[in-house]
Amino acid sequence: MPRYHIWTVGCQMNEADSAKLAAGLQRLGWEETHRPEEADLVVLNTCVVRQKAEQRGVSKLAALRRLKERSNGRRPRIAVMGCMVDLRPDSLRERFPFVDVFARPQAFGDVLAAVAPQEDVGGEFWPETFPQTAGPTAYVPVIHGCNKFCTFCIVPYRRGRERSRPIAEVTHEVEVLVARGVKEVTLLGQTVEAYGHDLPERTSLADLFRAIHGIDGLERIRFLTSYPKDMTDDIIQAVAELPKVCECFNIPVQSGDDTILARMRRGYTLSEYRDVVDKIRRRLPAAAISTDIIVGFCGETDDQFRRTCDLLAELRFDKVHVAAYSPRPGTIAWRTLADDVPQQVKMERLHIVEGLQEGIAAEINARLEGTVQEVLVEGEKGGKLNGRTRSDKIVHLHGQARPGELANVSIEKTSAWSLQGRLVD
Ligand code: SF4
Repeated sequence: MPRYHIWTVGCQMNEADSAKLAAGLQRLGWEETHRPEEADLVVLNTCVVRQKAEQRGVSKLAALRRLKERSNGRRPRIAVMGCMVDLRPDSLRERFPFVDVFARPQAFGDVLAAVAPQEDVGGEFWPETFPQTAGPTAYVPVIHGCNKFCTFCIVPYRRGRERSRPIAEVTHEVEVLVARGVKEVTLLGQTVEAYGHDLPERTSLADLFRAIHGIDGLERIRFLTSYPKDMTDDIIQAVAELPKVCECFNIPVQSGDDTILARMRRGYTLSEYRDVVDKIRRRLPAAAISTDIIVGFCGETDDQFRRTCDLLAELRFDKVHVAAYSPRPGTIAWRTLADDVPQQVKMERLHIVEGLQEGIAAEINARLEGTVQEVLVEGEKGGKLNGRTRSDKIVHLHGQARPGELANVSIEKTSAWSLQGRLVD
């Protein structure tokens, strides 16, 4: 039986793509191995959202080159997939001549065509290929690509324009996953609220929530990543009305300064962003809201950075994913703006945001001490069960429960990063 090894770096969408490709290979009789040296096919599913992620892919390729040289180039077949691959991979072919195939994000057929040309993977093969899930949770991509073109972002150039999957196709996938034991699905998109705008029936994320909400055995529905300008009253209303949809939003703001937001071409002002957060908190007071921040973007002054810190102190997010600006070749910022904030200043600002957010998250989580939270048990680590609340907080718990169970947990201890508790009833 031929064996494959898939190495993945990057976002949830990349994880979902790797799971889909793995499922396709398994359908064709391939077996997974966790050791690249044992594999007949090694796939690197890459990310270039920041220099660091891209460098990890390049280092992996260097190791694979040595591995392949040891077998006089015969084995393994090497495929590079994901956001490292653009429309014209010629320069990649020159840089990495030992790679057998370069495939753009979701170009699963290109990988299989290179390693199993005899197999027919056209027609219903991929629409009927669903990831094997290890636990009670699964990612379900619902819209691919992005039309926004923020100046710092490479995604639209690598994943193309927004393309939604029909509601019937998504519903079918969720039904199959639930039949395999999945209890929670996370609906994925770069800008998930744009879901349905491009479909002939012009449907919406709220309609998709309503369509899958009735699936027996499905306990929870999550969604990410949000884009402030696409958030609608109907989506907020659907989250409030539909018990299975978790009141948990990830809405990247990126900066607390309007001049920087304009330079990023984010397409909204801080006052518009605040309106979205206010609307959610008025309709869903218990909602968890997290965000993404880029520090050290082109031209960011101390005052502009201070405004980002002021915004975090004002809006008090449950989580903040912070990153230092990393110029990406081919983006608008790369072409038109100077990367003029010194790396040392970027890292200082990153640590300031991390410190500020640690304090805020610790205070928010401390309020949960003594409460009982509904937790979806996901697994066990180090003899302790773990799972997540509806607001996506990690819980380490004592007691007897199986993965996939929805359990009530009395919270006994909290930190900025997780909660600890004991099963009740
Ligand atoms: S919304 Fe902006 S940051 Fe997000 S994927 Fe699209 S272009 Fe990138």
